[in-house]
Amino acid sequence: MIIVKTIDELQKARKRLSGSIGFVPTMGALHQGHLSLIQKARSENEHLIVSIFVNPTQFLEGEDLDAYPRKDEADIKICEVAKVDILFMPTVDTMYEDDELCIGAPARRGYLLEGEKRAGHFDGMLQVVMKLLNLSGANRAYFGKKDAQQLALISQMVKNYFMDITIVPCEIVRDEFGLALSSRNVYLKDNDEKERALALSRSLKYATKMVMAGELDVHKIKSEMTNILSVVDKVEYVAFVTREFKALKKVEIGNTIILVAVWVGKPRLIDNIWI
Ligand code: AMP
Repeated sequence: MIIVKTIDELQKARKRLSGSIGFVPTMGALHQGHLSLIQKARSENEHLIVSIFVNPTQFLEGEDLDAYPRKDEADIKICEVAKVDILFMPTVDTMYEDDELCIGAPARRGYLLEGEKRAGHFDGMLQVVMKLLNLSGANRAYFGKKDAQQLALISQMVKNYFMDITIVPCEIVRDEFGLALSSRNVYLKDNDEKERALALSRSLKYATKMVMAGELDVHKIKSEMTNILSVVDKVEYVAFVTREFKALKKVEIGNTIILVAVWVGKPRLIDNIWI
């Protein structure tokens, strides 16, 4: 594995690779969720590029940019063991200049749910993902369904800008109790918060059970989910949307994503299930 920090080094290293390239962009503090993307990309491509970059433009004022967990040494070891060919770890100055051209999230899909609660987040996310996809020169890039709206917007960007790369969605990885893995889970400070955080996956599981029993009415399912979620500190949203992120009144089997965002103590947690 080689570690590169500059654009020039990355482009030189990439040009030495012949054959298909898989790419996994991350913000580091790697866990089993990231690793599942890395392993999938490893198995489906001849070469593998991973990036670690905590992208400042997708953090809003007052969010946890400075406190975001950074574990470079451990991450490097994980990538080495996972047989990554190129690990790209740029600095902010390498990735951005002043007064840049920006791309923006789409007016509807980009400004609801996460886009409404974290206005501007998706603009910054798309800006960095566009840069990273272009730099990677990859055939396929791997993203987790954990960030379902992010995945939808990246797929839309690739389509709208005719980018020659395949976006590969990857399943959500959870811990043994059902909590979706996230770098921000380290902020859950004690067993009480960890226990209460399980309400997310529990509510999604219960919703699936209701659908499987024939209940398709979103209002009814939401009210049961809200009961289960009463143990968290704040529910930001419980939403039922199509794969195109259009709001649903009735569950459409095969075309529904149920998403939840809540606060438990310090971290804001998101989770979802595709039905
Ligand atoms: P991040 O480092 O949080 O930007 O995440 C990098 C990539 O890993 C994104 O595509 C995420 O959706 C994905 N990811 C993060 N957590 C999980 C998880 N628990 N399961 C699957 N993918 C994940």
